[in-house]
Amino acid sequence: SDVGSQKERVVTDEEWLEKWEMGNIGFHKEEGHPLLQKYLDVLLNGRSGLRIFFPLCGKAVEMKWLADMGHSVVGVEISEQAVKDFFSEHSLPYCEEPVPEISGAKMFQSTSGNISLYCCSIYDLSSSIVGKFDGVWDRGALVAVNPCDRQRYASLMISLVEKNSSYLLVTVSYDPNKHKGPPFYVPESEIKSLFG
Ligand code: SAH
Repeated sequence: SDVGSQKERVVTDEEWLEKWEMGNIGFHKEEGHPLLQKYLDVLLNGRSGLRIFFPLCGKAVEMKWLADMGHSVVGVEISEQAVKDFFSEHSLPYCEEPVPEISGAKMFQSTSGNISLYCCSIYDLSSSIVGKFDGVWDRGALVAVNPCDRQRYASLMISLVEKNSSYLLVTVSYDPNKHKGPPFYVPESEIKSLFG
């Protein structure tokens, strides 16, 4: 298959933490993503005060955008450094508390209450812990998940969204024999079979 060369690849949590420590975070974009701007209406669909989820959020600046528009943002990220950098780079005061249901996890919440970032693996979350979402911004998330974990990731995401939710997904298209990823190449046919 055309994705054969990436199927077996695994990036460990430790490798991600190391990328953050080394500042090897070329995926982070200071300017915010033009596709979110372009498809904002699709995400919001005329609604206000949404709960919006950022899987594998890093320190994505779009979280600040959406919070400033009056939405409530929830993210999950394994790197505590990323989470702390997010709040400090936007000069947002926050508090930090344990998550009783997940051992070792912490939740960082802006003092204003509208941005909550869980520092743990996304696979530790469930709707009983974080509730359900009206919208999802999936950029650098499905494409960053290890290929062997895609099914698990998609099932979890489906369990975390409300019936009338919108899910914006950004993927990258390239020849997977020329780059080992992440970001991984996820063919459109696979996206259809993962999300239905
Ligand atoms: N979505 C962000 C970051 C993309 S890079 C953006 O657009 O900038 C992928 C991020 O996922 C990294 O910050 C990495 O630390 C984090 N990550 C990797 N595996 C994870 C997991 N299992 N649970 C939560 N975060 C994870």
